[in-house]
Amino acid sequence: MAEIEFPPMIDGHVHVRGVEDSANLAARLDATNAVQAGIACQYQDLAFNTNPAGFVLKAEHPGRFFLLAGLEHAGLLYGADAALPPAEQAGLLHAMGADGIKLLASKPTGRRRLGVPVDGPYFEPFFKTCEALDMPLLWHVADPEEFWEPERLPAWAREQGWGYDSSYVSKEDLYQETEHILERHPGLCVVLPHFYFLSADLPRAESFLTRFPGAHFDLAPGIELFYNLSRDVDRSRDFFIRFGGRILFGTDILSEHTIAEARHRAGIVYRFLAGDEAFRVPAGADFLLGPPEDGLIRGLNLPGDTLHDILQANFQRIYGGTPRPLDTDRARMECLRLAAIEAEVRGRPIDQTEGSRGARLL
Ligand SMILES: [Zn+2]
Repeated sequence: MAEIEFPPMIDGHVHVRGVEDSANLAARLDATNAVQAGIACQYQDLAFNTNPAGFVLKAEHPGRFFLLAGLEHAGLLYGADAALPPAEQAGLLHAMGADGIKLLASKPTGRRRLGVPVDGPYFEPFFKTCEALDMPLLWHVADPEEFWEPERLPAWAREQGWGYDSSYVSKEDLYQETEHILERHPGLCVVLPHFYFLSADLPRAESFLTRFPGAHFDLAPGIELFYNLSRDVDRSRDFFIRFGGRILFGTDILSEHTIAEARHRAGIVYRFLAGDEAFRVPAGADFLLGPPEDGLIRGLNLPGDTLHDILQANFQRIYGGTPRPLDTDRARMECLRLAAIEAEVRGRPIDQTEGSRGARLL
């Protein structure tokens, strides 16, 4: 296969591992022609997060990176002194220039770790604040249904500890909790990654998007979403044209991927949208995409205006055309707050924490 030539795209869902990895991520996004990107900050055991790395990227590349900041739950989990309630964190993050917030509290592992539902009192002031501040959420809810079925669990998922027995909340309960929030806060703008794990049930996806106008799906693999949507290409194509204003390009590219792996990821999503051929996951793709023999992906051959919406325009409508400017003084203070949490929770010297390293770089 010839090398794919990517048009300019906005990658709404990428990750950076730490403050030293910003150049690696930027190089991977150069290789996929991602002219802008949303940095979804990850979590360390949900106690603290990789926001310092997001601040560094935003400061180094003004105009390119949108920061979808993480929360810390060190108060709930450890009673840490420097911890803050989620609503206060949202206000602070907004004031320092974050463009949105990444939530992991509704992934089954995160939900179990925290032990509280998102529709309970712990999170309620947070959602209210985000609605009032117009802060969009990149909100991971549930996982593919096969993760709850041991006999259908893919090997790459088992290796990550993503197989769920009855001690985990069910997929249905996670959807219920999410819908309660969207009903209570109709002004919230949310992007639900991985097609909200509804790719095997388009009628349900359709009724969900119709009921909740502030909800969007992203296309970050979840490789199963491409297999599911390839089963009936005509039906999927109709869906994508009809809801083209609600679907966002994303890849889940990590700073630790190789350049080739990053191009394979972006290539799968892009060829699915723009191409008209059947293809397989390339042999050199990263482990979480599974092996080529898992199935065929068929291109939807979408019209140009739908493609433009999905590759760029929807992201800009939700998050703005340019990233909000970073207030580096506030960001540095936030790094030091996270450093204090990491030092307390991990028993680490404060100058060896990610937060301290981030503060030094800002
Ligand atoms: Zn992700």
